Amino acid sequence: MQISRILVIGGAGYVGSHFSFFAMNNGLHVTVMDNLSKGHRSALHCSEFVQADLLDYDNFMKLLSNHKYDAIFHFAASCLVGESVLDPAQYYRNNVLAAFNMLEAMRRTGHDKIVFSSTCAVYGHPVKLTLNEGHPKAPISPYGRTKLAIEWMLEDYNVAYGIKSAQLRYFNAAGCEPDSGLGEDHRPETHLIPNVVRFVLGLSNELTIFGDDYPTRDGTCVRDYIHVMDLADAHLKACAKLNSIPVIRLNLGTGEGFSNLEVVDSVRRISRVNITPNFGPRRPGDPAELVADASAAKRDLDWKPSRSNLDSIVTEVIKWFSSWPRGYPN
Ligand code: UDP
Repeated sequence: MQISRILVIGGAGYVGSHFSFFAMNNGLHVTVMDNLSKGHRSALHCSEFVQADLLDYDNFMKLLSNHKYDAIFHFAASCLVGESVLDPAQYYRNNVLAAFNMLEAMRRTGHDKIVFSSTCAVYGHPVKLTLNEGHPKAPISPYGRTKLAIEWMLEDYNVAYGIKSAQLRYFNAAGCEPDSGLGEDHRPETHLIPNVVRFVLGLSNELTIFGDDYPTRDGTCVRDYIHVMDLADAHLKACAKLNSIPVIRLNLGTGEGFSNLEVVDSVRRISRVNITPNFGPRRPGDPAELVADASAAKRDLDWKPSRSNLDSIVTEVIKWFSSWPRGYPN
């Protein structure tokens, strides 16, 4: 079946807005739904916008009863490991309860395709690197647990109600589309690359690297940075694949890891600003090393990350924050 009208829930957020931009450029009719609690109106790229919250089940039922979408893309989640440890209730409500509402409304209105943002946090501490999809699932943060719970819901909803799902386990989403005005703007910002960039540009006064005693090559955590537009590309490809495979679970990463200090070094080289970060204690919920085995996604989706070079990601993020030092203007 040809996909032409889609609903993007969370399309004003970081990954959702880049995906919507990509989908619009691919000629799709894109309805974005977002509660704007974290997303930005100026990040919207869509044919129409609905301001609404998945926690309002009746309202969402109305939307799906009155409109038929060929597929639904779900990006709307609370997604910070550290915050989830401190406030798990927010994560069970915004992630699990909201996903339950979404699936209930989908099955009652005959919507049967969902592409869902999952995460490598479902794996917990790696017992073997790189991580493939068969790695044991033992999440160590409430964030990872809520995403895994939703993956199980999606599997059960397929068996019982025929809802098809692509569950895409992102590693570290990074980069942006600065020439189209799209950036990474979380408030407060907790992610490494924007934090290092904001520090070198003088937009923040402090840079702390959490932990220098991990069992890694330089003692800092290692992460696999995947460009948001490469993620966007994989989403459309995964959606098309649902015509032949009803439940898809794939890692999205590059297969290459960079330590936190290597990220700092990339920003130092590209900005030519000599920075020395402080070291602080480990952040709760952080595994030492998360690097994807993304060979299944490459094979099954015929997908290849083309923009995920760390230095070019850093160059884009510097460009965006140089143009928008206060972030999105809303
Ligand atoms: N990190 C850090 N300082 C910061 C932000 C993040 O040292 O200001 C570390 C964090 O502890 C982890 C890595 O950078 O080891 C990546 O964290 P981020 O929040 O960017 O992504 P996550 O891996 O949590 O999805």
